[in-house]
Amino acid sequence: MRLLICIVVTIFSHPIFAGLENAPPSINMADNRGKAVFVDFIKADYQIVYDLSKGSAWADSTITFENTESGYAIFDLVPEAASASVDEKTVTISTYNISGVTKVRFINAVLLPGVHTLKIRNQISENITFSGRQVKSAFWTDDLSDQGFLEQYLPSNLEFDQYKINFNVKIVGTDTAHEIFTNGEDKLLATNEWSVEFPEHFNTSSIFFHLTPMGAFRKLAFSYRSMDGREIPVVVYGNQDLNGFKLKIQSTLMELEKDYGPFPHQKVVVYGAGSGGMEYCGATISSLWALSHELTHSYFARGVMPASGNAGWIDEAVASWRDDGYRQSSLSELSVSRMAGHSPYTRQTDRDAYSKGARFMGYMDQLFTAKGGLKKFLRDFFERRVFKPFQTQDFHHDLELFFNQTLDAEFNKYIYATGRVKKMQNQDAPSPYHPRLTKAELKALL
Ligand SMILES: [Zn+2]
Repeated sequence: MRLLICIVVTIFSHPIFAGLENAPPSINMADNRGKAVFVDFIKADYQIVYDLSKGSAWADSTITFENTESGYAIFDLVPEAASASVDEKTVTISTYNISGVTKVRFINAVLLPGVHTLKIRNQISENITFSGRQVKSAFWTDDLSDQGFLEQYLPSNLEFDQYKINFNVKIVGTDTAHEIFTNGEDKLLATNEWSVEFPEHFNTSSIFFHLTPMGAFRKLAFSYRSMDGREIPVVVYGNQDLNGFKLKIQSTLMELEKDYGPFPHQKVVVYGAGSGGMEYCGATISSLWALSHELTHSYFARGVMPASGNAGWIDEAVASWRDDGYRQSSLSELSVSRMAGHSPYTRQTDRDAYSKGARFMGYMDQLFTAKGGLKKFLRDFFERRVFKPFQTQDFHHDLELFFNQTLDAEFNKYIYATGRVKKMQNQDAPSPYHPRLTKAELKALL
């Protein structure tokens, strides 16, 4: 009955945002420590205070979540928690290493199934600088590294989960005015105080947030008329000539809308900076040459959303295949990979995606030329799954269904490489569009 209700709701109601369907399996922790369970975040309110008199920033977070089995609730937060409570009872936060793959935090108390409230306090010290009466801070992310998303700054869930996120951001100890750039709906509450509400489909990889002293960057605001009639507000900012960015945004959005349908986000925010870039929902930090690649990710990566590191290759493969002019590949150009064959707890994208992944897409296009080619499928995949986290198995299955042909042999050899390739390959190789920046380089972008 429950299944039936789920099906009925899925068909007849508005989108349901993901909870546990794509979560990795629960963990029986070593040394008989008990079971750690993934949970469904429902809502997270983050109160973020930048205190210039102390030169520090702190987050007080209130997270409502549900667990469906008893156990130690898993989430993530890279900084140490200064204090935490669940349902008003003080708890400690511990770390669990998933050997050779990743690590997560868990609440050190067995929780019965149900809805709980986690309150937690932590300092934010990544990508932040204080100087005199000014602060600069950004929540840059990185999907080519483990623990690279919002968890670097705030307590969050893993990529499989979507939840309602609200920020309240305040700067105290200065009267120098600041401004924020974000892909949420921001409201200025007072000088140096904002609320930001993010859409319910956002997850830990979605948020773009950048706080700077007022007027630190040039700004260009305009609107893009979508094919569906919307006037989508666009803000581009940076320290360079922004007109080239404006033209590139307009031409790229026109191209992507023609290929894949209306732009899925409510706004576009582009920070023109860096070498290469990083993508967010409807937003990016990007150099001009990488901009069309990064905006493609607003469809593939931050439109249809990978639910885990094992699904991360698909968006890089699609974006790189596009960069390469959607070139077709022959079977002889393909190489064995295990881009989607890593541990279910993997959180980073396999860098083989840019080369082997892109060629796999080119091969699929060649294989199905007579049936309309791969882009036709990608448009359908995007339309049906927009804002829904997916796994590689979903992509594989949908592709087979769309073209009415089994692809198990191709996926087993070139994507899952079950038993053939032991380790994640090329994780130190440079990625053309998403170079790994040093801490100093990241700070210089603030
Ligand atoms: Zn990319």
